[in-house]
Amino acid sequence: MRFYKIPVFLANEACPNMCIFCNQYAIASQEDIPRPEQLPGLFDKHFHTFKKPERIVEVAFFGGNFTGLNIEKQKKYLEVALKYLNEGLINGIRISTRPDYVDEERLTLLKEMGVSAIELGTQSMDETVLKICKRNHTPEDSIKAAELIKSYGIELGMQMMTGLPGDNDEKSIFTAKEIVRLGAKTTRIYPCLVVKGTELETIYNNGKYKPQSLDEAIKLSAKLVSIFEDNNVNVLRVGLHPSEGFIRGEELVTGPFHPAFGELVRSVMWYQRFKNSTFPDVEEICITVNPKCLNAAIGHSACNKNWLKKKFSKVVFKTDKNVSPKEFYAYPC
Ligand code: SF4
Repeated sequence: MRFYKIPVFLANEACPNMCIFCNQYAIASQEDIPRPEQLPGLFDKHFHTFKKPERIVEVAFFGGNFTGLNIEKQKKYLEVALKYLNEGLINGIRISTRPDYVDEERLTLLKEMGVSAIELGTQSMDETVLKICKRNHTPEDSIKAAELIKSYGIELGMQMMTGLPGDNDEKSIFTAKEIVRLGAKTTRIYPCLVVKGTELETIYNNGKYKPQSLDEAIKLSAKLVSIFEDNNVNVLRVGLHPSEGFIRGEELVTGPFHPAFGELVRSVMWYQRFKNSTFPDVEEICITVNPKCLNAAIGHSACNKNWLKKKFSKVVFKTDKNVSPKEFYAYPC
């Protein structure tokens, strides 16, 4: 079964204020925001790219503050998606929104319109960090929203950021543990970047903000992913999706950006796993991992394999789907 997502990006739509790190117009202009009547064309364009007939398709309304849109506009967007859901063409509808824009009235509508998953832009569970970032909501808002979403039988996702102004590793780990405690089924981890046109850019230019280094962001994200995976929270993404502008450096001022950030994090997790393991005392070693983990185990640009090659004259990776994704077997070749 192949999973496909149809993203509907509503850049900064219905945001009550601009959070200091955010400028979604750097990624998409206002003219790029699809209107409800454009959705069938957008969906059909995606369907033409789906190759596998055995598939799960989800429509995801991302960016901005979906439940901050007026009720009529929310309905118009969701009516189109619901039609596709009722016709069996898609399997789920996902939205992302702010914790302080979740209440019973909004959830009743979302439930009626077939929304199956809500991702809360939690960002941090530390009150000071939220204040400095001008999020204009509190950790209590996130707790209330999370409980309410679960009570409606809608899948709860909670996104978090690292390296925000006023933040540190301890606070990020606390945020991750709160996300676990609140029963989120999914999460996304986004290291804070200094994006052009944001208040954070000015703060950075005034020397009042020091972003995480790439190495710091990778190491912290690796710890957070471990916390989530140990508690069965599905990590949907680590690191911002690399838009063309980010890759060309047109939108990014500075910060721990890498187009393969998630891959680097997984590589570090496997490096730590290898480093903390005892290997047989042999010349040539075979390592068997789950096929889904092969690339991460070998490491970004084969970094883990090269590290192992300092210990063994020959290193061969093999796969076996019966091996648990967190384990490996090492034996003489
Ligand atoms: S972080 Fe979310 S709520 Fe804040 S400005 Fe960006 S899209 Fe809007």
